[in-house]
Amino acid sequence: MQNLQNLLSLMQNPNMLISYQQQTHLYQRTIKNLEKASNKTLELFIISKTWVRQWKHYVGQYEGQYYSINQSSRKPGPINSDLKSDEIFLFHYPNNHSFNQKIVKLDPEDYVLVGSDLMNMWHLEFGSDLTIFRQITFDENSQPITNVNLLRQEIYMKIQNSTRGIIQVDEKCLIKQWIMLIKSALKSEFQLNCENIRLWKHKHFPANQAIKQLEQHNGKFHGQILDENQSVGYYKADLIIIDIQINGKWQFELLDLKTASLEEFKYVFNKAYKGCGKFYCDKNYCNSNPVFNQLQFEKASLQQFLIESFKEDSIDWSEVCWSTDQELKPIQEIDEDIIQQINKVSNYPNSFGGSFIQDFNGSYESILSHNINPRLNTTIINELNKVININILKGLITNLYRSKESSPFKLRSIFIILHFDCFTQIIPEKSNSFLEFVFNLDKQSKNQLSQYFTHLPNQRFQNIIEALIRNLILFIQYQQNQPIQLLLKADIRYLMQQLELLQIFYKSNEKLKRINNEKFIVKEVSKLYPVRAELLEYKQFACLNNKSLESYYFTFCLYPWIIPIEFKYQILTMDSSVNQRSQGDFIWQQMGLAPSLKLLIDRNDIVNSALEQLSRKGINLKSKLSIVFKGEQGIDQGGLTREFFSLLTQKLFDVQFTMFVTRNNNTVLWFNKHHMEMPIKYELIGMLLGLALYNQVLLDVSFPQLVFKKLMNETVQFEDLKELDLDTYKALNLLSEYEKDDIEQAFAFNFSITEYDNWGQPLQVELIQNGSQIMVTQKNKEQYIKLCTEYYLNQSIQKEFQRFHAGFWKVVDGNGIKLLTGAELQTMILGQKHLNMYELEQSTKYDGFDKNSEYIRTFWAYIHSLDEQQKKRFLFFCTGSDRVPVGGLKSLKFVIQKHGENTEQLPSAHTCFNVFLLPQYDCLNKMMEKLNIALENSEGFGLM
Ligand SMILES: [Zn+2]
Repeated sequence: MQNLQNLLSLMQNPNMLISYQQQTHLYQRTIKNLEKASNKTLELFIISKTWVRQWKHYVGQYEGQYYSINQSSRKPGPINSDLKSDEIFLFHYPNNHSFNQKIVKLDPEDYVLVGSDLMNMWHLEFGSDLTIFRQITFDENSQPITNVNLLRQEIYMKIQNSTRGIIQVDEKCLIKQWIMLIKSALKSEFQLNCENIRLWKHKHFPANQAIKQLEQHNGKFHGQILDENQSVGYYKADLIIIDIQINGKWQFELLDLKTASLEEFKYVFNKAYKGCGKFYCDKNYCNSNPVFNQLQFEKASLQQFLIESFKEDSIDWSEVCWSTDQELKPIQEIDEDIIQQINKVSNYPNSFGGSFIQDFNGSYESILSHNINPRLNTTIINELNKVININILKGLITNLYRSKESSPFKLRSIFIILHFDCFTQIIPEKSNSFLEFVFNLDKQSKNQLSQYFTHLPNQRFQNIIEALIRNLILFIQYQQNQPIQLLLKADIRYLMQQLELLQIFYKSNEKLKRINNEKFIVKEVSKLYPVRAELLEYKQFACLNNKSLESYYFTFCLYPWIIPIEFKYQILTMDSSVNQRSQGDFIWQQMGLAPSLKLLIDRNDIVNSALEQLSRKGINLKSKLSIVFKGEQGIDQGGLTREFFSLLTQKLFDVQFTMFVTRNNNTVLWFNKHHMEMPIKYELIGMLLGLALYNQVLLDVSFPQLVFKKLMNETVQFEDLKELDLDTYKALNLLSEYEKDDIEQAFAFNFSITEYDNWGQPLQVELIQNGSQIMVTQKNKEQYIKLCTEYYLNQSIQKEFQRFHAGFWKVVDGNGIKLLTGAELQTMILGQKHLNMYELEQSTKYDGFDKNSEYIRTFWAYIHSLDEQQKKRFLFFCTGSDRVPVGGLKSLKFVIQKHGENTEQLPSAHTCFNVFLLPQYDCLNKMMEKLNIALENSEGFGLM
C-alpha cells in the first residue's frame, strides 16, 4: 500500500525520480502476484522481455544479482520498441483495439506480463511512445489469455471494386464477433450500411483457384458458409470471402454442384495425369510425385479411379497438388556456362538437391528412400569450386532457402553447399538463411544430415568445424563486451543457429569418429558473462528446466558437448548446493546453515555401519555429509569425510571381499558375478559414488570408463571391451578382420564362453541356445562378436550393476548431472590422472613467505624434482587425497603458511583447508632434508 501511495504522489509530481529500490520492489511484487494471478480483476499488460532485461540491468536488479549501478547501465529506450512491426491492414480500427494491434506473432518467449501499477511507473519514467497496451483476460480455468496468437487471414471482398487483403484476428475469435467488427468497420470506413454479413470459404480450392472460379461464374462458387459459432482458427481457410447483403441481395451464391464437380474433377485429373511441372512433388494425386508416378495409370484407368473416388467422396483434398510451378530439371552434366546453369536451377531447391549425382542412372529414388549415402559427383564439384565465389554462393543460398519447406532433395542440397570451398565465408553472415534453414529442420532431418556429413571429406569436415568454432568464439567475445549479454533476440537466434549446425557435426562425428570430442569444446563459453558466469549460466539452465520462461532466454546447457568440464563442474556444484539447500529444514535455512547428513560410523565394522546408517528412513542423501567415528571426538571439516570414503572404498573394493575382481592385468576393477555378498552392498557402492560426487571427494577406485558410461546410460560398444579385457578384445578383433575361409579351423570358436568361478572352476555359458554346438563362421562371426560384447559388458553383471546403478541415482539427481558424459563423470569422481605441479605452483597463495624468495623458489624446484609417486605423496600430505580435482591442481586453493623459524619441527599440514605448514629453516638443505622425512613418513590420516 505504501508503494502505491508513493506512486500516486509521483504521478502528481512527475519530476521526482523513482528510486531503484522502489522499482525493484514493485517489480518483484508484481511478478509474485502474477504467480497467483487467477484474479479476474487484475489488469495485465504485455511487455517485451528484451525491454524488461534492459530495465532490470538499468536498476541493478539482474536475475537475482545485485550489480552496483555503473555507467554501462544505460536507460532503456521506449517500451516494447522491439515488438513493433510494419503490417499493412485492410481496415483501420482504433489503435488500441484488441483486434488490430501492431504485433504480428508473439511467442511466449518474447514477452512477460506485468500489472498496471508497474506499467504506470514505467510510463512515468520511460515514456509511452511505443507502448502497446494489450490487456490480458482470463479463461474459465483462470489461465491468462493473451490475444497475441493472431491468425493472418487473407480475405476477399467486393465493395466498389474487388479487394483482396490481409487482416489479423485472434484465432479464438468467434465468427459472429468478427462479423460484428467487420460491420462496424464497413460503416466507418465506407459509410456502408449492410443488413447482414456472412463469411465463406471455398470447399476445396485454395485462394487463387477459388477467386478464378468466383470471377468466371459471376459470383458463384463451390463454397461453404462458415458457422457463426465457430472460431476463426477452426476453419484453417487460406481465404475467407466476405459476403455483404444489401437490399436483401447477397453478393455471392453457390455454384451448382454439377459444374463445380466437373471443374474439380478436371483439375485433379490433369494433375494426376500430367503432373504439376515440379521436379519433385510430395502430394498424392500428382504425377510429379515419384511414388504416385510409379503407379503409371493409363488415361482410362486413372479416369475410372477418379470417378470412383469422386462418387465415394473419398478424395483427401489436402493431398491434392495445387502447385503450378514449372521447374528446371536437376543438373547432371556441365553446360557451357555452369554458373548461369546452377544459378537458374537454384530457384528450384529440389532440382538443385537432385543434381550432381555420381553414376547417375536416370533414377532419383535412392535420395528419396532412407538414403544414407548422398553419392556426389566430385568431378563436377571440383570444376564448380574453380569458379564459384562467395557472392555466387550467397545468391544460391538466397534462392535455395527462401522457403522453410523441407524435402529429401532439399536436405541433399545442404550437403552439396557444404562442398563449396567458400562456404566457411558464409558463416559470419548474421542474417543467414542457410543457418536459419538448418536450424528449423526437424529432428529426423537433422539426424539424416549428420549421416550425410559422414561422407564429407575429412579435411572439409574439420575445416567447417574449425570455422564454426572460430566464429563462435568471436561472437562470444563480442557479446562479452556488451552491457547486457545476449540481449537481442536476433543475437540469441544466430548463436543457436551456429550451435545447431555444430551439433549436427558433433553427432556425425559420433557416427563416424574422425576427430576427438575435445575439439568441440569452446573454453570461451564460460566467459560469456564477465561477472559470475557460472551463476548466470546455472540460473538460465534452471529457468529452462523449471519452465520459468519469464526469465529464460538462453543456456549453453542445451549443447553440453561444447562446455568445458571445469565449467560443468561449477554448474554442477551450484546445482547440488541449491538442491542441498532446498531439501533442508526450514529452520536450518532460517539460520543460514546448510543441513548435513550425519553418519555415525564404527571403524571396526565400517561397511555394515555405513549400510545401516545410509538405509535409515527419511534421511536426506542430498545434504552435505558429516562423519562421526564411534567413540572418537572431532568435528568433521572435510577430513573425516575423506577418511570415511577412503576406508570404505579400501574395504569394499578389496578383492578378498569378493564383490569385485580385477581385470586386464590387474589394472581395472570389475563386478564379480560370483560374489558372496548381499546384493544391497552394490547399492551401497553406487550411493558411495553419488555421495563422493556431491561432497566433492575424489575416490581412489580403478573403475574403467565403461562403468561411468553405463551409469550415464550411454550405450557401450565393442570398443569399450578394450579397457576391460584387452586379450579378448584383440582375439575378437582378429576374428573380425580374418577373411580366409578356414575360420572354423583357425579359431575353433563356438557360441559359448568359458568362465571361472571364485575357486577357479570352469563354467560354460552359452550365448545362444545350444551355442556350444554352433561353430563361429565367416557368416555369423559379427553376431558372435556382438553377443560376446553384450555378454561381457552388460548381461553377465546385469543384476549387480542394476543395484549399483540404482544406488547411484538414489543420491544423485537434479539437472546438472545430465550435462555430463560418462567420461566426464569419471573425471569428476576419480579425478584427473596427470599431476601438474606447475599448475599448483602458479595458483599457490602464501602466508608469511614471499613468492619470489629464494627459499620458496628452492622449495618448488625440489617439488618438481620428485617422481610421480612422491608428488602424489606430497599432494596427499597436504590435502588428504592424492587425486587431481576437476579443473586440475590450479583449482585446489593451495596455501603455504610460515610455521615457526629456526626450528627442528617437521613440515605439517591442515589437510582440510589445503594448507601446508612450512617452517623457515636456517638453510635450504635442511628444508629439503626435513621435507623428505615428512613425506617418507606421511602414511595414514589426521596429520593435524
Ligand atoms: Zn504436384
